[in-house]
Parts: sequence; C-alpha cells; structure tokens
Amino acid sequence: MMHFERPEEPTEFQELVREAQHAVAEAIRSGRSPGFDKNLWQRYKSNFAVAQYSKCAFCELPVTNHDSAVDHFAPKAEVWELSANAEDRGHEHQGGLPNVRGRKASRKASTGYWWLAYEWRNYLLVCSACNEKWKHCFFPVEAESRRWPPDPEVPENPLLLNPFDDPAPWRHFRFGKDGQMAAAPGSIQGQATMDTLGFDAFPEGTCRRESLRLQREELAQDAYYYARAFVQYSFKGKQKRAGFALETLCRLGGIKRAFAGMVRAIAEDVTGFTWDELMNLRPPDQDAPPGRDRAPS
Ligand SMILES: [Zn+2]
Repeated sequence: MMHFERPEEPTEFQELVREAQHAVAEAIRSGRSPGFDKNLWQRYKSNFAVAQYSKCAFCELPVTNHDSAVDHFAPKAEVWELSANAEDRGHEHQGGLPNVRGRKASRKASTGYWWLAYEWRNYLLVCSACNEKWKHCFFPVEAESRRWPPDPEVPENPLLLNPFDDPAPWRHFRFGKDGQMAAAPGSIQGQATMDTLGFDAFPEGTCRRESLRLQREELAQDAYYYARAFVQYSFKGKQKRAGFALETLCRLGGIKRAFAGMVRAIAEDVTGFTWDELMNLRPPDQDAPPGRDRAPS
C-alpha cells in the first residue's frame, strides 16, 4: 500500500451535500433506512484518480483497465464483522477468475457510519475487486472502541490502513520474492488490513488472492535483486554499479508505479534505509540540465 496526499475538498462540496446529509440524519432519527445519492461523491472520481495516480487505494493495481469507484473508507449503510475463522474469510474461485467464494460475515449491523456518507475525508478510489468482493462493509476497529451499530458520539480507532492518513503504510507489510504478503511483525493494523482485503496466505502456502500475487511476483524479484545489488556493490566500493542499482530500485518504487508500496517495503527491509534516505543517496543525475529537479518520489 502506498501513501497519497488526499485531494483538496472542492469549495462547493459542503453546499452540494447539505440537503442529502440532512435527509440521512432525518431518516435515522425517525427509524427509517436512509437512502444515499451516490452521484454526489462519484462525480469527484477523477479528483481521487489524480491524487492516487490512477491506482487502487488498497491493492495498488492501476484502475485504468478495471472498474473502480469512489468508496467509503468507513462503510455508510451497514457494517459487517469478519469471521475469526480463516476458513470463512473467502478465497478466489479456482478457474482463473477473481470471483470470491466462501466469504462470510460473523455479524452484521444494519446501520453503518451514515454520518460519514457525505464526508470528503471518508472517500478513496478503490478497484471493483477490492471494493465489491473483499472489503464490502467490513471495517475493523480496535475492540475496546467498537460500538455495534456504530455511534456518531463514540469515536473509534480504525484498524484498516488508509493511504491518505498513514505516511508510510508499506511499513505494515512484508513481501516474499514470490510476491506473497505478510503483516510486519507486531503490526495489528497490517494484519487487520490483510484480513479485510484478503491479502493473506490461505490455505498454507497459497494466497487468497492468487491473481494479485502473480502480478506482483516478477516485480518483487526485481526489487530484491536491485536492493541486494545496491548493498553488495556499496560494500565492495563499486560506486557506479551501486548507483545504477539504487537508481533502478527508486524508479521501480516511484509513486506512479503499480505495487510501488511493495517495492518500498522490500527496499527498506533489505537495505536498512528508509525510502526517503534511499532517494537522497542516489548519485547526481549526470544528464540532467543544471538546476533541474528530479522526478518526484
Ligand atoms: Zn484493489
């Protein structure tokens, strides 16, 4: 997962959603089920696509070839709880299609975070697989703060990572050379995010979302190769080769690239440097005209 800067809230947004917001609050007060006008947030899809470099907030796949939508981080209409049993958390259907079988909620609340339905900070761009097949209405929060159904007066601590809020979400994960993902040791948020999005290994030795792992595999191998090359050439004092390896690694983990979060996690793990430190260690660009800035990280 990558970090992105949240797009600025358009000046007209509050005015535009005011009436719909009141209608939702009124419906809840009178015990009716609220209706939501999705056009009020979907019209801003391109704002989020630009901010997220056209990548899904969760799996980091480019959404240019997939359906995507502006999704609610905290679900607006219902909340579901994931089963504690790994067997009940679903699996990609065998047969080359990303269809999901066997994903069950252990309990459901019929009202969700309705007061956040028209909240700009509750939106992100998500691919249809992450949105409709995995995350659905699941929204893990710290057990002590959980209210069922959620209560607008009681603040909760979400465990699901948000790429707009966490400055380096990739640090909550580890990746193998085969593209398999695991939560970083001790990261409760990393584990909850993996469970919610089906990123974990299940059954043993396979991935719930095997299609995602396959797409990450080759890049994971490249990231390991260039990270190790950088370390080894640096130790041997071969600065030119080390510089080339580092430059390539930084390019692979550039913010616009698919799975850049994975590359950064591998780079930091292998080299022991933070991503920002690695970017600053790059040799000066010999070909760049004087004073010209480097591409953004
Ligand atoms: Zn996705």
